[in-house]
Amino acid sequence: TELEDFFDENGEIRFPEDATLVDYVEQNVRLHADTLAYRFMDYSRERDGEAIDLTWAQFGKRLRAVAARLQQVTKPGDRVAILAPQSLEYVIGFFAALYATNVAVPLFSPDEPGHTDRLHAVLGDCEPTAILTSTKSAEAVRDFFSDRPAKDRPRVIAVDAVPDSVGSSWVPPVIGENHEIDSVAYLQYTSGSTRVPAGVEITYRAVAANCLQIADCINIDRDSRGVTWLPMFHDMGLLTVILPALGGKYVTIMSPQAFVRRPGRWIKELAAVTDHAPTYAAAPNFAYEHAAVRGLPAAGEELDLSNVIGLINGSEPVTVSSMRKFNDAFEPYGLSPKAIKPCYGMAEATLFVSATQREDAAKISYVDRHELNKGRFVAIDPDHEDAVAQVACGQVAVSQWAAIVDPETGAEQTDGTVGEIWLHGVNIGQGYWNKTDETRETFHNTIDAPLTDGSHTAGAPADAQWMRTGDFGVWYEDNLYITGRVKDLVIVDGRNHYPQDLEFSAQESSTALRPGFVAAFAVPANQLPAEVFEQGHSGLTYDADDASEQLVVVAERGPGRRTDPQEVADTVRAAIAGRHGVMVRDLLLVPAGSIPRTSSGKIARRATKAAYIDGTLRGGYQQTAFPDAGE
Ligand code: ATP
Ligand code: MG
Repeated sequence: TELEDFFDENGEIRFPEDATLVDYVEQNVRLHADTLAYRFMDYSRERDGEAIDLTWAQFGKRLRAVAARLQQVTKPGDRVAILAPQSLEYVIGFFAALYATNVAVPLFSPDEPGHTDRLHAVLGDCEPTAILTSTKSAEAVRDFFSDRPAKDRPRVIAVDAVPDSVGSSWVPPVIGENHEIDSVAYLQYTSGSTRVPAGVEITYRAVAANCLQIADCINIDRDSRGVTWLPMFHDMGLLTVILPALGGKYVTIMSPQAFVRRPGRWIKELAAVTDHAPTYAAAPNFAYEHAAVRGLPAAGEELDLSNVIGLINGSEPVTVSSMRKFNDAFEPYGLSPKAIKPCYGMAEATLFVSATQREDAAKISYVDRHELNKGRFVAIDPDHEDAVAQVACGQVAVSQWAAIVDPETGAEQTDGTVGEIWLHGVNIGQGYWNKTDETRETFHNTIDAPLTDGSHTAGAPADAQWMRTGDFGVWYEDNLYITGRVKDLVIVDGRNHYPQDLEFSAQESSTALRPGFVAAFAVPANQLPAEVFEQGHSGLTYDADDASEQLVVVAERGPGRRTDPQEVADTVRAAIAGRHGVMVRDLLLVPAGSIPRTSSGKIARRATKAAYIDGTLRGGYQQTAFPDAGE
């Protein structure tokens, strides 16, 4: 199947013969047997790395073997969790679960530090029959389940220990017969930024469609290759390794740690070394800054980035400074100023929702802060003190629709007016695993009053079901902008503030704050800790009946000279009062590593707030609790 076969005469996505990912991989195994499918760069022994290659034929052989093994111990539809480190075994494990008609659950190895509560929560939710791992991690996996009674322990299979010969008993799924295309291929757990992660049911149709939507947007074809270090349990990391099944050349994989330690490795693999294949990658915002600061080639070293066609920047708010630093650092090496593509996506949509299109450079708008806080996008001079930079996330992918809706009334909002982003499309997940109420609330909504003129629902079926994203956004001059999470909005004295805007002002005002590790949120006055009232600086006196929301900022301490916390608080307070017209009642400086983050590195403001209120943040370390755990 060629890419154009997937689009009907109206340009919408379709799947000939209702084929699924398994069929597409099998097709590659047949037609491109000796072609490279995946390359893993292992830096554990050599600084420059060793390449471990897998051709389509080798990949197919491994998939049949592991799938056949799974079929011996599971039933179709049983969950099979992948608890392997970043490796080729991980990719094999994921696809093998699909080959066995199980429901794959991409997770991570328990030897990944700091996230065991997430792993326990998620495994308790999806109840896998079998676990796929690698020989290296098998012991850690068995240990992880050792406190369960033997009968409740899932079967643990080391992918690399299954001999190829087992594959002869593999029973392939029958294409088209049982509507496999609309059955669940895997559960994509959300990051857990605002809650315990929820498992989104991704069908074969949704995942294949989402791959095509990405390919279409950044022009990936059979000649293009990808480079990734993103963890595969994260939706963006997973889709990058699924892409080659539908189109594109091989993908080069490295571990997140390999990237973080030496971001130049990622840059080097992106570069045109052996071929001039058009190359793409995806990474969250912080990675671009990290690469710009620490990933430059050594003096005299050659680097040619003119082959890079698309660098997806998504999963977190995109900042102007990160893009600028990356472009300034790598444009001298041939990087196109249009390479970085700000994107918007989420697990509930498989991954990909909207992006800056292939021919476009990232678009930035400067809008009036006070208007924005009232829900209106109004352009302002970039140098004005009330200017807030907003990076556009481009246009919505083919066969997908994004409308801005007033969540109270279900009415679509006009362009320029902020509301909740609602989505409809072939890539939207079926619902949350095991969560009927949340599924109905999130996935089954109707837009009762679409705009009569210029509606963004045009082309979607009249009875379409819409998915509520929980994000505020706005359509403005044909671009979709994400303004912030509904759950994280800070409301003080009846006025709205976006936390990221407050956090940015705070970290800009004092170098004592570690940039990117700042959390702003509102706390009811009567739940503020006693210290706040004792200090006197907060301007508040304790009143048990006062439940008014008050602004708190928690920040990790930046490196360098230790400054007097009181001085820092005064500086930040003055900056935020001046710029945002709101009083910071408490600025708490905490050691680096204290602010709770998700396993994909996103800041968890609600968990930070919970730890702030119960006092654990003041006491020190608390990395991974979930804000709604035990609710
Ligand atoms: P949880 O739903 O469990 O609280 P999460 O929302 O972080 O966690 P994901 O599905 O991995 O889980 O992330 C999607 C979310 O990330 C989006 O809903 C949005 O809030 C944020 N996001 C993604 N891309 C962008 C972007 N370009 N700009 C701003 N926010 C973004
Ligand atoms: Mg979410």
